[in-house]
Amino acid sequence: MEEKKYSGVLILAETEHGKVHRVAYELLNKGRMIADACGESLSCLLLAPDTFETSACSELCQRGADQVYVMKSAAFRHPEEVLFAQNIVSFIEEKRPDTVLVGATHLGRSLAPRVAAALGTGLTADCTDLQVDADGNLEQIRPAFSDNILAHIKTVTRPQMATVRYKEFQEAPVNDGAQIQIREIAPYIEENQSVKIEKTVSIGDMDITDAEVVVAGGRGIRKEEDLALLQELADLLGGQVGVSRALVDAGMAPSSIQVGYSGNRVKPKVYIACGISGAPQHLAGMKEADVIIAVNNDPSAPIFNIADYGFVGDLYEVLPQLTEHFRKD
Ligand code: FAD
Repeated sequence: MEEKKYSGVLILAETEHGKVHRVAYELLNKGRMIADACGESLSCLLLAPDTFETSACSELCQRGADQVYVMKSAAFRHPEEVLFAQNIVSFIEEKRPDTVLVGATHLGRSLAPRVAAALGTGLTADCTDLQVDADGNLEQIRPAFSDNILAHIKTVTRPQMATVRYKEFQEAPVNDGAQIQIREIAPYIEENQSVKIEKTVSIGDMDITDAEVVVAGGRGIRKEEDLALLQELADLLGGQVGVSRALVDAGMAPSSIQVGYSGNRVKPKVYIACGISGAPQHLAGMKEADVIIAVNNDPSAPIFNIADYGFVGDLYEVLPQLTEHFRKD
């Protein structure tokens, strides 16, 4: 039997606290451009817990998706990459989209390589732009060599897969008159044979990439309990705690709150860097914050080169004073 031709653009949307994660609306903008340039359709796949209201997907159609597939299961209550990836791979093998776009969120970054490897196709991670060349091939654009060049990458295998940075593109505009085409489909597999989740631990309700204030700590933090100093200030300012990779590597914090090149990219209104030297890989994740405040006991620390305000001093003295100051305000 002849194999089905690869066609169309698929966006892997994800849920967050019962809603569609907004990165999907940004992907729809580029997805629509690619689909129109190739004369193909644009669809979304969303794996969601059984409690998810399917009607919450309408906005995906209003923002440009021709069709939304929703796969719901109690097994998806806690996003578990291996099970998610198995279902996504089966879906892609059945539908054979030509292009698959994934948000470079914490989950997306973990899922996309598993899916690409299982399909035996290429993946361009962390794209900042997507274009279509004259032959209808996707040009995936991403910074390389510590942001010194922009690499233009084409995938020779199919589907062509890319993860795309969150908050890089405008969200696709809403068309209230758009046709709502949502189809619930059954999961291919609901039990992961190799991994069982026995307990999940909440690390806060807000995604660090959406926080308006990030209070981040680096190697200057001596022990895990001292992260409470950051948390206290973050709570006071309605923000989130972030960390440099040094603290993740030391086992003091989870990678989901790591800021930087191999962690999360954040664009908060205020970023307070405490005991962080300012390595290029850390700056890659936070340099676009509106206001950067640095606390460091080394006046020559590179973080001061990009900081709007700096405190040269011991964070164990400066942080409590800052917290006290904001408490009074
Ligand atoms: P250090 O560089 O050790 O800096 C600690 C700072 O704390 C120093 O400036 C010191 O003066 C100051 N300090 C110490 N004690 C105090 C005190 N009591 N009060 C005030 N200041 C104090 N790093 C990331 O953060 N995120 C990433 O995503 C990331 N990805 C990477 C990817 C690759 C491929 C590679 C090779 C590296 C990556 N790194 C990443 C690591 C990065 O290169 C740095 O090693 C790391 O950012 C350093 O973390 P730091 O600033 O906390 O520690």
